[in-house]
Formats: sequence, structure tokens, C-alpha cells
Amino acid sequence: MITQQISDEVRELAELNKQAMFDRCRESWRHVDAPDVCDWIESKLRFGTGDGDVQLESRVGPFTFDDTPWWRFIVRSAVAPECQSIALPAATQTHKTANFLIAIPLYLAEFKPAPAMIVVPDEGEAKKIRNRIYAVVQESRKFTTFERLAVQPEHKWNLQEIHLGSMLIHLAWAGSKSKTRSKPCHYVFFTEVDVYRDADQKSGDPVEAGKQRTKDVLRYKHLFESSPSEKPSTICDEEKIADERWRWYVTCPHCGRKQEPRFFLHKKGKLARKGGIEFTIRANEQDGDALLEPRQARTASYYVCESGCKIANDYKRRMVEAGEWYPLGWRDGDAEPERRPCRTMGFHLWAMHSPNETFGTIAEDYLRHKKKGQVVDFFGNRLAISYESETRAPTWMELGRRAAYTNARRTVPDACWFLTAGIDKQGDNNGSRYVIRGWAPNRTSYLVDWGWVSRDEFDEGPILGDLLEVEKRVLASDFACVTRDNEASLNPLGRSRLRVRLANIDTNHLPRQIHRWMRQLAPNWLDRLRDPNRPLSESNPLLPGRLRAVRGDRHVRPDVRFRHNLVETHARSGEKYEGGLHQWGICVYPYYQEQLDCISTTSVGHDGSWYVTSDALALGKEYLQQLTNFHYATTFDKRRGRRSAWVPRVASIPVDFWDCEIYAAVAAEMVVGDMGWSEDAWEIWRGQSTKQQKRSRSATSEVADIGSR
Ligand SMILES: [Zn+2]
Repeated sequence: MITQQISDEVRELAELNKQAMFDRCRESWRHVDAPDVCDWIESKLRFGTGDGDVQLESRVGPFTFDDTPWWRFIVRSAVAPECQSIALPAATQTHKTANFLIAIPLYLAEFKPAPAMIVVPDEGEAKKIRNRIYAVVQESRKFTTFERLAVQPEHKWNLQEIHLGSMLIHLAWAGSKSKTRSKPCHYVFFTEVDVYRDADQKSGDPVEAGKQRTKDVLRYKHLFESSPSEKPSTICDEEKIADERWRWYVTCPHCGRKQEPRFFLHKKGKLARKGGIEFTIRANEQDGDALLEPRQARTASYYVCESGCKIANDYKRRMVEAGEWYPLGWRDGDAEPERRPCRTMGFHLWAMHSPNETFGTIAEDYLRHKKKGQVVDFFGNRLAISYESETRAPTWMELGRRAAYTNARRTVPDACWFLTAGIDKQGDNNGSRYVIRGWAPNRTSYLVDWGWVSRDEFDEGPILGDLLEVEKRVLASDFACVTRDNEASLNPLGRSRLRVRLANIDTNHLPRQIHRWMRQLAPNWLDRLRDPNRPLSESNPLLPGRLRAVRGDRHVRPDVRFRHNLVETHARSGEKYEGGLHQWGICVYPYYQEQLDCISTTSVGHDGSWYVTSDALALGKEYLQQLTNFHYATTFDKRRGRRSAWVPRVASIPVDFWDCEIYAAVAAEMVVGDMGWSEDAWEIWRGQSTKQQKRSRSATSEVADIGSR
């Protein structure tokens, strides 16, 4: 084994041009006086198109810390010899890539060259970061000269490493085939670490693999940055274990109190309703806890100082730029800290540190995310905080009792505007499970039906028997609307019976059999192109159906959530899908967290409440057990390192009904689309569609279905 490795290494070395290597070594050891890192970055580095003609950055011109002064201490610490590790949970638009992954590596390449590695989530990100680094070097060289930094033209399209003349930066991502797996690195940059966990688990945890690279190096550096995922988050865990954790404090322009700016007002205690952004109607001098409309919040919201002063939007920039780093938990009046680098350090940058944000735009952004049911994303991307559901998951009996509404199975509460379904075809082809759920404004939802359909293993027809039964129960059935007393009623659209508006079926298993079943359904039940013989385009759009093929897709980002693909052939067999398969890739993780929130919330009767039927406890033990049997767990393994994954709590109980609920929730989000979940938006839609219907007096008297998709 070892001999094999050595002979590989020898062969690899022989392949290298020895003279070039000698030059590089000599170049690396030549002494160059190192200036202050921040002065160097600001005087030397520039954003621009480099030698290409594509603008890769949102900014052009010189790097500057004038509008982001908090970066100075982070950057100085990052290059200090005594600092081994920095963990930076950071919001988007805080210039974290430009500073952490471009400016710092370039400074090190110029003054302290040593083998380095950048760990990225995937190949696409590797390409992007490589091009951005080269573009900055090229652009800067139009205005200045470097001692060592250079871009070797022959290396430009190499995806294994970034070659900066004096320093090689290896590029690694989960599943990347790096020839240099065993070679030590001095600097390892981990970017968007919380995205890795969606990566291919078979190839191992890239964070652990990256750390392994420095184990034989005396003076190493690990730099971590990411916007946090929902809990547990790698970046937040790394930050938490740092020796020194720093927070950016601001001084109130009215009373002079120093404090760490927060997003949410304190809920209780001495600081209740202080120390955060006001985005309730109190901002408009009204009473109560009702939230402002997003657009109102932009202008009406303000910051409430810990002493109670109102700080208006136009103070934000000056106040934040005049801030300073303090140790976490520092109180105004405590001794001034000494701000110097140490072995392991943690920082935190959130939307407050985006130069272009005001208190109002941050509040507006929050309220918009809330309306869309995407608070998890807001926490990670804007607050740089890892979202965690507030309560523990209940037992199946607790859930059945607590979340029970008044409607019986296969009836619909009359508050529902539409129904969706999730269908899970079993991998071993013994049957299918489904869930049907009704939806009301603000994401309030009601269970309508659930079921298990076993397949007769002797069914010989061309279409699987369980799917034909699912077709009857889920797609062909309609369900009566009822009042709280279970009497016949009309829903807000004036209908007495509802059928499923959109069903999502998991096509991860048996996609060909599912495709065959789908092909014999009514054509307008399926997603299809207006003209099937032309590619998808603005003039040839995708017409939405009632049944949609979906599957979990780790390439879809959490903020995008779902994405349409037209699949021509079955990946493994190469067999052609007749007419193509419109398959939607879903990033399931945010939905998992939201689902866990739904079943964990102890109170019902408010916006966003999640219900089961009145008889679920009596009839739905299997459903409730599966729904409460899924969680996110972290395990430590000496050989494989830290592993976190969504797994069943009890291995012997499946989680198929959990999956069905996820697909039904995704379907609901697909139905409401850009309209979002606010009742006002739905009412506006209703007004418009009623008018349209009167005008057209079309042959079909059917009321239009809500939603764009
Ligand atoms: Zn104040």
C-alpha cells in the first residue's frame, strides 16, 4: 500500500518540469517585506473583467474597506501567524467571497506562499472561484506590479488547481478526483461549508477531508465561511468552539450606549421590546403585535436601542460603520478588550453589515420571507444564524391529539382554497403511499386523506396496479367541503367539492413504470410543452398539469427549492422516455425543517397552523408514527469524522408518509408560486379571475384554479 503510494508520487514528480519547480521553490523562499494586509489589498487589488470580457463581480474598481471597516480586523487576523482558524458565519452580500477567498489567498501568495486548498460545494463553484481569482489578478496587474503573483496562461483552464506563480491552490469538492489527495496543505479555505452536507455523502465529509490535509503541517490555517444552514450547522459549530468570539458593536447616536445590533427585539426581561428592529404596527404608532406589510416596513421600521431610543434608517450607515469588535457578551462599561489575533477566532456578519441595507429593507425582507414560508432561508442568508425549531418533536399520540381539527377523513374544511397531494412509490415495488392536504391563506393546512395502497404482486397489466388505485383515490376523487360541525359547505371559491389541484409523485424509484402510468392519464393532467416538438422557451412555455414527477435533487440550492428538468432518457438503462419526462428536482432540506416545525409547534389556531383530521388518532397510527419518526442527527465516527443526516429515529419504522407530506407541501408552494401566501394577494387574484370569467363566458363553467402553475 505504502510502496504503491510512493511509486505514484515518484512518477508524478518525474512528470513535472524540474527546472520550473526549482524556480518556484527559489521564488517562494526569496524574502519580500510584507506590508499591512489591509493597506496592500486596498492599494493593489481591483475588481474588473481581467483579461476576459465578463464582469464576475458586483463591484468594479479598487478593493476598499471604507464601507465595510469590520473586515479589517478579520483580514489582519486571518493572515497573522498565530491564527490557526477563523470561522465566519456570514450573510450574503457581505463581501465574504471577495475578502476571504480572493484577497486573503492573494496576499498569502504574494508574501507567504505555501500549498493551499479551497474546498467548494461543487464543480460549478470551483470554476467560478477560479475565474474570479484570476480576473482580480489580471485586472490588478493593469494598474500595479506584483512581486510574485502571476497567472500562468497554460493553467487557466485547469480545474484541479489555481496556479498563482508562487503558490498552488488546489480545488476540492465532494466527489472531486484530486490526484493530490495525500499531499499536505498549509492553508485550507472552506467556503459555504453548510452547503456540503447536501453533497454526495458517499464521497465523505469534505470538511473532515480538508482538515486532514493539514495534519502533518506545523503552522496551518483553516478559514471557514458560509451562510448557515438550519441546525445543526457546521459553520456555527466551528464558530462556537473558537477560543475568542467577536461581535461588532455599535454606539447609539442618541444615548451613546454600546450594544451588539440584533434583528429581533428582545421578547422578555429588562430589555423586552428593545435591542432590535421594530417591524410591527407599533412602528406606525398603533397598538398590537400585528406585523407591518413588507412595503410599509421599508420606510416605517426603525432600530430600537437597548435604552429605548428610536434610531431612524438614515443613521444606520454611519452608526454601523463607526462600530468596533467586542468579545461576545461584552457589556457597555466593561473594560476595553485588546483586539489581537489568537489561535482560533469566530466572527459574525449579517445583513446589518451589507453596506446597502437599512433597518427598513432588512425588516421588509424578513416579512417577505415570512409570507412565503421561507423564514429558514432568511435566518441563514440574511441573519447568518442557524435556524432551529423551538420545540421538541412530539410523540405520535401527542401529535394526533393536539393537531386534530374538526373534519373527518376524506372531507375538506371550508377554509381551504385548494388541495395538494404527495405520492411515494415504494422502491421495492410493493405499493404506494399518499397524503392529501388542503391549504388556506398564510400556509394554514389541513389533512384530508392519507393511505397505503399495496400492489398485487401478480398484477400483469402494463400499468402497475397500485398506481391505478392511487389514480382513483387521489386524482379522480373529489372531497366534500364541510363546516366545523361537519355540515355541507362552500369553500372561499364557492365550491362544494374539491379535487386535488396538484399531486407530486416521487420518481426516484421506478421512474419508467411511473412514466408509463402517467402517459395514459388525461394529457392536460400532466406538465407539457405547448408545442412538444420545440424546446422550452418563452414562446413555447411549460403548461402545468395536475400531476408532477418530482425527486430530491442535491444540485438544487436551498433558496431555489425546486427546478424543472426535461429528462429524455432513463439515466441507468438509457431507455428513452416517450415524449420526455418533465421531472422537478427539489431541495428537500428546508422543507424538512419546516415540516419538523409544523409538527413540533404546540399551539394551533393561528396563521400557519398545521392540522390532521379529527379521526387521525383513531385511524392513522401508522401515518402519525411515520411523521414523528424523522429528525436530523449528528454522529461522530473515528474513521469517517462528523456526519450529519436526516434519519429515522427508529430504524424499523419507515418515513414514507413524512416524504408524502413534503411532496404535498412542495406542491402547495408550486401552486401559489410568486403570489405567495398572503390572504390579500389571494383576494386580489380572486377579484381578477372572477372578472375575467364574466368577460369570457367560456364554454366551461369551471372556476379557474388558484395559482400560476
Ligand atoms: Zn440609545
